[in-house]
Amino acid sequence: MKDRIIDCLAYEGKVSIKCMSSTEIVEEARKIHGLSPTATAALGRLLTITSIMGYELKEKDGNLTNQIKGDGPIGILTAVADSNGNVKGYVGNNTVDIPLKENGKLDVGTAVGKKGMLYIVKDLGIGKPYVGMTPIVSGEIAEDFTNYFATSEQTPTVIALGVLVDKDGVRTAGGYKLSLMPDATEDIISTIEQQISKIEPISKMLDENKTLEEIAKLVTGDENIQVLETINPEFKCNCSREKCEKGLIAVGKTELEAMINEEEKIEIVCNFCNSKHIFTKEDLQNLVDKI
Ligand SMILES: [Zn+2]
Repeated sequence: MKDRIIDCLAYEGKVSIKCMSSTEIVEEARKIHGLSPTATAALGRLLTITSIMGYELKEKDGNLTNQIKGDGPIGILTAVADSNGNVKGYVGNNTVDIPLKENGKLDVGTAVGKKGMLYIVKDLGIGKPYVGMTPIVSGEIAEDFTNYFATSEQTPTVIALGVLVDKDGVRTAGGYKLSLMPDATEDIISTIEQQISKIEPISKMLDENKTLEEIAKLVTGDENIQVLETINPEFKCNCSREKCEKGLIAVGKTELEAMINEEEKIEIVCNFCNSKHIFTKEDLQNLVDKI
């Protein structure tokens, strides 16, 4: 089934909620990068929130980079999304292996680390990119982003992210981001708090085949949510031979000539999708001739 984001309003616009199923995206990332279960859960959570936040940019040519630099063994996590929610990402250590937590859950917090920074770069395609950063709270990712929205963007936000991995790969993945508008009443807030305390984790709800619409109703406690838009994001990389050529040209003539003398061929591997872009001596010479 295709991944989806639904953009909804609850309580007549006093609450905004976006719900996402990202099972295909996270499974694709797992396969491309050969991720261990813990790395799948960590990157999967980051890909999910990055896709939702990318979609929120709205600007047509906007893109968003989220990076987590913690002191845990997984190393740096990076994800990039466009304004259609299409997303790509990678982690420093694909095979990170941490014992399960006592409750049987994958220990993302220990893999990521409890100390470090979360970086958010929003490029709207016009002017300087916006850069935000906040310290990591728990390394569990959803909490770290919730803290970012509370402190940097002063928007009361609830974020939940979940990835369910079994021996065959990703069973379900998804998340939601709920924001309170300034006119949300105390009654609404307390209803949502009660709902969130009693509902199951998002990956479990998806595993029970609940639809995103049903999940939005359960999270908010509002039966009359209004779905504004539905999109189908994918794991998508926009690397290309042309972009690699530009990169090589930027390296400069002297360096390229040295490569031609020293190497049979140059192989550029994309961090995000593992595509290999190969340049032979002749290809490099053609680039030198263009400079
Ligand atoms: Zn790529």
